Amino acid sequence: MKTVPSKNPKVGFVSLGCPKALVDSERILTRLRAEGYEVATSYRAADLVVVNTCGFIDAAIDESLDAIGEALAENGKVIVTGCLGAQPQRILERHPSVLKITGPQRYEEVLASVHEYLPPKHEPFLDLLPPQGVRLTPRHYAYLKISEGCNHHCSFCIIPSMRGRLSSRSIDEVLREAEALARAGVKEILVISQDTSAYGIDLKYAAASWRGREWRANFRDLAAALGELGIWIRLHYVYPYPHVDEVVELMADGRVLPYLDIPFQHASGRILKLMRRPAAAEDTLRRLEAWRKAVADITIRSTFIVGFPGETERDFEELLTWARAAQLDRVGCFEYSPVEGAAANALDQVAVAEPVKAERRRRFMELSAEISAAKLERKIGQRVRVLVDRIDGDLAIARSSADAPEIDGLVRISGGAALGVGEFADVLVTGAGAYDLEAKLP
Ligand code: SF4
Repeated sequence: MKTVPSKNPKVGFVSLGCPKALVDSERILTRLRAEGYEVATSYRAADLVVVNTCGFIDAAIDESLDAIGEALAENGKVIVTGCLGAQPQRILERHPSVLKITGPQRYEEVLASVHEYLPPKHEPFLDLLPPQGVRLTPRHYAYLKISEGCNHHCSFCIIPSMRGRLSSRSIDEVLREAEALARAGVKEILVISQDTSAYGIDLKYAAASWRGREWRANFRDLAAALGELGIWIRLHYVYPYPHVDEVVELMADGRVLPYLDIPFQHASGRILKLMRRPAAAEDTLRRLEAWRKAVADITIRSTFIVGFPGETERDFEELLTWARAAQLDRVGCFEYSPVEGAAANALDQVAVAEPVKAERRRRFMELSAEISAAKLERKIGQRVRVLVDRIDGDLAIARSSADAPEIDGLVRISGGAALGVGEFADVLVTGAGAYDLEAKLP
């Protein structure tokens, strides 16, 4: 397959100072990578440079000011963060042209500044993060990218030609990053990649040591090891291969969240074949049934594409029938639009008219909302564990195991203002809407 050069925005990073500053840098870089930014290895190759400074003693301040000067001379676009950022005047006296200055542990502000001066590339079909991904990530959850690229050839997707074949990070490197995140106060890790269930295939599942034990670079060991951290582990972009059952067992044991994000994309065998989807031949309804038997409270999230070239009303009805039977908890739906360079553009199929696409999306989302509302209603009266994201007046806005940040629902806790942001709480569900829950402290 022809490889086209990546046009992803590139950020250079200079990290000075103590281990805490290093963890900050790791966190910023993790998030930037998850949003599709690349890390440049030289000032010249970068579109923008972030300097994480130290302001502990005079020598460190001088070193930081010199590093800012060097980045400005070599690149020109510089964002400053870290301890010296707490003294912006001192920086501006020497370097008035820096773009932005933020203080230590201001990850969100650093990310917002990068977004402002170097917007992330947004590709609705391909992004690992939702479009709202540019919103600020509170420091109690973080994205952990375990691999890059993909071995599949879905006809609507250009990731394999842009980012190459699956390239997994070694298991010890991934686990060390996860451990650093947990140490820095992260309470929830969201595992992301293009195909999480394929993790480690390219490494031939090479084993490595972490916390005195050998772990293989495969999906099951990765999930089990992350489960040792004692925080929420949420798995995104999983395909319904048979070995996913082993990870569902870990969910049954409470080691990872009972949540699976599986991009089914469609249910008509004909359309799945045209899409060239992995695991298209799997009997997904049977798999869903088995997983629910193993873990009663498992949440299944998925995304779908309607209006793919050649999709007939009959194919769409097949999708609706499947959705009624599948009873998915969380659903997103896109109207198909062609991506430049994708194989689907060359399919000898009739394009679906725009109004028809919109109509199908509306019908699909109506059914999904109905299913979601009925499922949430059944939670009234139950106690659920939540992670508090923010306080809004008298309300604590939180999420349960069923809610990934920014793409799923919320739990609104009345009288929860005293709860700590980034802390877990057990609450009693008192009401339900189509996607969100109301709750109170028990
Ligand atoms: S699985 Fe398909 S849609 Fe996902 S990245 Fe690979 S080729 Fe693209």
